[in-house]
Amino acid sequence: LEEIHNFKGKYPKQLWHLFMVEMWERFCFYGMRGVLALFMADQLMGLGLSEKDSNLKYGAIQAFVYAFTFIGGIFADKILGFKKSLVFGGLVMIAGNLLIGIDPHQFFYYGITLTIIGTGFFKPNISSMVGELYAEGDPRRDAGFSLFYSGINIGALLGGIVCVYLGKNYGWNYAFLSAAAVMVIGVLFFLAIRKELGPIGNSPINHLQAPKRKSREIMVYIGALVCIPLIYIMINNTKYTDLFMFIVGPLAVLYYIIQLTKIESSAGKQKFIAAFIMIAFSILFFAIFEQAGGSLALFANSNVTPTLFGLSLDPNIVNNSANSLYVIAFAPLLGIVWLWMAKKKTEPNTVIKFGLAFLILAGAYYIFYALRFFANAQGMTSLEIFALAYFVVTIAELCLSPIGLSMVTKLSPKHLAGMMMGLWFLASAYGQYLAGILGAGMSDPSPDASLTDKLMAYTDGYQQLAIYSLIAGVILVLISPLIRKLMHEVK
Ligand code: GLN
Repeated sequence: LEEIHNFKGKYPKQLWHLFMVEMWERFCFYGMRGVLALFMADQLMGLGLSEKDSNLKYGAIQAFVYAFTFIGGIFADKILGFKKSLVFGGLVMIAGNLLIGIDPHQFFYYGITLTIIGTGFFKPNISSMVGELYAEGDPRRDAGFSLFYSGINIGALLGGIVCVYLGKNYGWNYAFLSAAAVMVIGVLFFLAIRKELGPIGNSPINHLQAPKRKSREIMVYIGALVCIPLIYIMINNTKYTDLFMFIVGPLAVLYYIIQLTKIESSAGKQKFIAAFIMIAFSILFFAIFEQAGGSLALFANSNVTPTLFGLSLDPNIVNNSANSLYVIAFAPLLGIVWLWMAKKKTEPNTVIKFGLAFLILAGAYYIFYALRFFANAQGMTSLEIFALAYFVVTIAELCLSPIGLSMVTKLSPKHLAGMMMGLWFLASAYGQYLAGILGAGMSDPSPDASLTDKLMAYTDGYQQLAIYSLIAGVILVLISPLIRKLMHEVK
């Protein structure tokens, strides 16, 4: 392990490996996600759901995906270790997409269920392994997570383009089949590089005798399969999603509290509390940020002019891809800025960065609000300004999302790293869930509303969100000295 921690240069070589693996996984995930709502709402070749129902189901599926990362994180901590979880999760994701690819009508819900479980075992654990590449206190950690975050977005961008293109032009099943194929590459690649990770991600019960260890592992695999009918029922009827969200959150908090009381050192306890507070704030961030998949997609569709600097361009493409493109372009740059500031000892600490994220997000949503001043008499507004708002959204995201991953790995005791990473993504699940509710609240209800009415309704909503974000940012900056104390030596 020391050999890995003492790497020379800016990034350990294993980071590039994990970067590639996560890139393929996100290709598969965002590729599938990109066609999900379209497929469900397609009346001829898809499931033929109403737009409202496909939106609701889309939200439910997204919430479940992120909620399962909490369970995946716990089982990795306790039994499987990150490496085995990753391979298992990857295989389940492949099976899920393959099933839908074979027959999207027959197997859709089973396939989606498998994707949810698979992502749960995969997603939090790869991020936790990135964290373990760094020794405690290594200032290069944040930059490493920024790079990793670019990998996420290269995958998201490619998957979003390729799967949507294949699905729309050749048939939905090709989108899911290509997602499965790409995930095969991801898993094979991981199997090829896993030795380089040394002890990182090995099973925490390796010291047990083989039969005992094996039986515990098999129990996890069987437990995961037992979840299939449960999730199947819940996504089939979104009423159960509400119930699920009401139950899982409190249970997770309870589990967190039990773990907290078991931590012996008071510094360890305080860091664990600091992580929790920051994770709680991230819920609001993602609730606003994730308008992208819901209300902003509908707004782009109805109220944004399809030309960018004179070239014709579908506003929904901008809505889907601009964010990933900006992350790829600017994450390295921001990484350099942080590193440079760290050298000068002026780098803002994590809490301030979170506060900045909210303040910048507020700026972005004020720009979304301001779109009403750039609209023509028909209520159609500027794609250029819309794209600019996404640039600002992305800078906010980069101050919080990759840094949050990094922070979780710094503040959690090693044996709870997976669970806390899961909690981080569980917060995203609540963000997604809330995003749907907030978005539904701002879409104009009357069916004969004019485009101008819609423009006003949506932009009013964005102004509200800007205000929430502003308040959260100010609170974070104000309480930052307090949280900083809880974080001890962690910056
Ligand atoms: N876009 C990032 C990813 O896919 C963050 C997602 C999230 O935490 N909500 O990893």
